[in-house]
Amino acid sequence: TDHVEQLEFQAETHQLLELMIHSVYSNKDTFLRELISNASDALDKLRLESFRDKDLEVDTSDLRIELEVDRDSRVLTVRDNGIGMSRAEVVDLIGTLAKSGTAELRKQLLETKPDQAAEELIGQFGIGFYSTFMVADKVALTTRKAGETTGTRWESAAGSSTYTIEELDEAPQGTTVTLHLKPADEDDHLFDYTQEWKLREIVKKYSDFIAWPVRMDVTRTIMEGEGEEKTEKEITETQTLNSQKALWTRPKSEVSDEEYKEFYKHVSHAWDDPLEIIPMKAEGTFEYQALLFIPSHAPFDLFNREHKRGVQLYVRRVFIMDNCEELMPEYLRFVKGVVDAQDLSLNVSREILQQDRQIRAIRKRLVRKVLSTVKDMQGAASSEDGDKSKYDTFWQEFGRVLKEGLLNDQDNRETILGVSSFASTNSEEQLTTLAEYVERMQDGQNAIYYLTGESRQQIENSPHMEALRAKGLEVLILTDPVDEMWVGAVPEFDGKPFQSIAKGEVDLETEDEKKASEQLREQQEKEFADVLTWLRETLDEDVKEVRLTNRLTTSPACIVGDMYDFTPMLERMYRASGQ
Ligand code: ADP
Ligand code: MG
Repeated sequence: TDHVEQLEFQAETHQLLELMIHSVYSNKDTFLRELISNASDALDKLRLESFRDKDLEVDTSDLRIELEVDRDSRVLTVRDNGIGMSRAEVVDLIGTLAKSGTAELRKQLLETKPDQAAEELIGQFGIGFYSTFMVADKVALTTRKAGETTGTRWESAAGSSTYTIEELDEAPQGTTVTLHLKPADEDDHLFDYTQEWKLREIVKKYSDFIAWPVRMDVTRTIMEGEGEEKTEKEITETQTLNSQKALWTRPKSEVSDEEYKEFYKHVSHAWDDPLEIIPMKAEGTFEYQALLFIPSHAPFDLFNREHKRGVQLYVRRVFIMDNCEELMPEYLRFVKGVVDAQDLSLNVSREILQQDRQIRAIRKRLVRKVLSTVKDMQGAASSEDGDKSKYDTFWQEFGRVLKEGLLNDQDNRETILGVSSFASTNSEEQLTTLAEYVERMQDGQNAIYYLTGESRQQIENSPHMEALRAKGLEVLILTDPVDEMWVGAVPEFDGKPFQSIAKGEVDLETEDEKKASEQLREQQEKEFADVLTWLRETLDEDVKEVRLTNRLTTSPACIVGDMYDFTPMLERMYRASGQ
């Protein structure tokens, strides 16, 4: 067929590409890591599909990734015989790059730090396939999906706002990416990707653990014969460049930090380093190995309903599924990594997983391990020479999500309360733990006071604050939407109940003070009887009760919720969600 279609990139995609082509992103080598990572995913998917679909006619006997270099024409090819893509998938997956949130982030970065915008975007979002344009003027992709007869060719040039799509009558199954490399930089042969040693170095550094062989034909000169007869001879042999060792099966002591980090980038499609690396291994009844990561940035879609949980399930080194929800509760959806279980069937389905005792046991252990890792970070933060910034980063990025666990994970509630931090009236800048709050509680204070609201400022200005401020009592300032939910569900911490200062009667007085104020109250009730009656009659429709209070020091009046009423914020949330 000679049917070539020209299509426009989405505006957002084009803008990102432009940014990237002109960026000075220092680590151009990573384009190859991305291509190999994609090829590896495609091979995983093909193997899985061939298990699931016995009618699928594919040869899985030699699944592999191949690199090929043509030095004269400066063309580098990366080929896999994996699952491939249909035409629609090529347009969908390759034609769009804008993940949700990129648009806002790009705008924001361009405004605040235009010089580093590209660098930051790449760091936080990654650019996957498009990173090829850092090193190539023109990129072509040919692919045929397993089970389909026709193939698809995609092509685009660096800086172009369009790409072409063409149907191919014949194409090998899998995907071939062809890069027409930019002219070599005379001064910098370190970035010459037609050099065999360079490719070998990159694969070793970034993709050594990839489970599939990454092969390349290598030409060597050898000497043949003896003495006078000695002649030079060129031989070509196919070499496998990676060791293919699954990282999670290797003992911790033998794996370098760098290797763990590269693996993280592969499994989580991230471009930055993880905050924490958590290798795990369990023997006995339920044998499994796991390698989990806590990222250093929250993804933009963390609060999006469609956000996927990040743990992959393997069974005896064979990839089974992405986003295995059965292995991680929703409130730990930011955790990335792999779990390799020993005793599951390769045919295991979601339905089976939901019932599986082994999976439940593993999940329980993973959750405890992640929480104890957070606890360790917190411990390090409070020790003298510890790394304070790590826990702070964690809390800043994921605290709001972790607190969902206070509602949903009763078993670990104490632990989660323990590792949580809150803003409070104690300090403008520093967050406090509940333990620290309890430590500072005044004699006779028996509750942990809090107020929920939209912002610190709104809460600080609340009339409810006045009496507590006057008494020097500390109040937790809770401004995350999730706070509204958990404070209603969690009764206490360390034997101290949580008490909203906006609800019911807040008991702030000692016995003597009480007697005195009762007398005062009686006297005042008489004095203000007329006003109270008038207010009660006037507001009859709107309020349950009008009463005198000693809570206020400067405001004349305030509205108080009943102990079990919705707070104004919760009311708004319910209304917004149409309930
Ligand atoms: P990501 O890998 O983070 O999803 P990429 O830009 O690297 O982002 O790739 C986009 C998508 O294109 C992949 O998710 C995958 O579905 C598809 N894709 C890329 N390369 C291949 C390939 N070699 N074989 C099959 N599908 C691929
Ligand atoms: Mg990718």
